[in-house]
Amino acid sequence: MFDSGPAVQPGAPPLSASQLPAYCVVLDLETTGTSPTHNRIIEVGLCEIENGQVVEEWSSLVNPQVPISPFIAQYTGISNELVADAPLFDEIGEDLYNRLRGKVLIAHNARFDYGFLKNEFARLGFDYQEKTLCTLKLSRRLYPEHRRHGLDALIERHGLSSQARHRALGDVRMTWEFVCKALAEHQPETVAPVLAKILGRPSLPPNLPPEEIEALPSAPGVYLFFGENDTALYVGKSVDLRTRVLSHFSGDHRRHKDMRLSQQIHRLEFIETAGELGALLLEARLVKELSPVHNRRLRRTRELHILRLAPDPSQGTIEILSLTHVAPKDLAHIHGLFRSPREAQKALREIASEHNLCLKVMGLEKGRGACFAYQLKKCRGACLGEEPPALHRARLQMALSALKLRTWPFAGTVGFRERSATGRTAVHVFDQWCHLGTAQDETELADILECSSEPLGFDLDGYKILCRYLEKKHGKLDVVPLAGKTAAKLIAEDETAIRLETDGLCSC
Ligand SMILES: [Zn+2]
Repeated sequence: MFDSGPAVQPGAPPLSASQLPAYCVVLDLETTGTSPTHNRIIEVGLCEIENGQVVEEWSSLVNPQVPISPFIAQYTGISNELVADAPLFDEIGEDLYNRLRGKVLIAHNARFDYGFLKNEFARLGFDYQEKTLCTLKLSRRLYPEHRRHGLDALIERHGLSSQARHRALGDVRMTWEFVCKALAEHQPETVAPVLAKILGRPSLPPNLPPEEIEALPSAPGVYLFFGENDTALYVGKSVDLRTRVLSHFSGDHRRHKDMRLSQQIHRLEFIETAGELGALLLEARLVKELSPVHNRRLRRTRELHILRLAPDPSQGTIEILSLTHVAPKDLAHIHGLFRSPREAQKALREIASEHNLCLKVMGLEKGRGACFAYQLKKCRGACLGEEPPALHRARLQMALSALKLRTWPFAGTVGFRERSATGRTAVHVFDQWCHLGTAQDETELADILECSSEPLGFDLDGYKILCRYLEKKHGKLDVVPLAGKTAAKLIAEDETAIRLETDGLCSC
């Protein structure tokens, strides 16, 4: 069963030791299927590499203790009869673990082999965590001009010796041959950053049970990472939870934040939603409730400020107000969204300079007589009465219109319906950009509408999320008429009007 012998390195040029990590194992597994939690290993093949040279080859069939399907038997040539007398994984596990420990795992589509090893070792009580070097990624990065990077494509493209295809040791030899050729065909300075990127870190967070990642659906929703003592670390959303969560840990992300996260995560939670809008709204709410350590984007650290033109039409004074003092119905009369009064002042000064407006009339400059800009011939003399106040005010209004917040494009409360591919439905109820709630059924919808009588505060998250959503969903909105409330009729029945209403969003 064991096929251990002298190293064979078919025609590969010697590798400079500096290109690869000093200790690596090229490995391939044959398995009863594709799920690391449900399927089992039926064959292991590996080549141990030291300083760029093969020092040992080893392979073993494994009795999976479950039947091998005719498909797999045909694909691999490994039948139930063949493994009947093979050792169980329990019997080879410790030896295998010692061969892999402390070495970089090189494999084609390494995530697959890594997942199986991690699970099989965990059953034996071994905690397997090593860096991986995925040759599929290596091929993609070094040969980006090609679309196919499967082992068969590599065999064809690089003329690899394809004996014993789909047997573990056969595939291992081919994989190693590919590594040697790929590295030989590229300058060390090209290869070094590619290897550094792929080797960035281990495939999965060391403290997170792999089954938690295994359980993630490819559906829209929100995911939550928790650290030690159940500290909330990060809340994120995606239309595909599984892909998004894995992307945090894939070797090709070298982002510092993801690396730190990966070390800290102990637990993972997810909540499926009916669609993207639901995920965005839930994410915003959970970030506010939990204040996760790594979420900066949605966390409100400071008050936002806006500009308001004095209501008295004879005046051109501008007030800088905190957004919390603004009622949603007044949105039509306010401008901008600024992170500080200072930022608001800066914007005003720029507008004044660009449009030859008077800072003194606007209330940003004190003192008697002409304003400073007048002396530079930049003010048209509103401060001295040379420009009529009404004209100055009108010009100021025009200049401010670029900073105007969007008005609510509907006649009252409306619901936006979302449906997921799996049949999950939800209605998100909004009024004046304010998210009143999300209903899964009629009763919940009635509850939301009943409880929404108190005056609304301005909801910046709702505003930003919904504005972007309306723009993105342009032409594909599913608006639910909400009977009993103000007629939920679209003011902007045609999508062009909605688009205009949601253009030019605040970017903060
Ligand atoms: Zn002036």
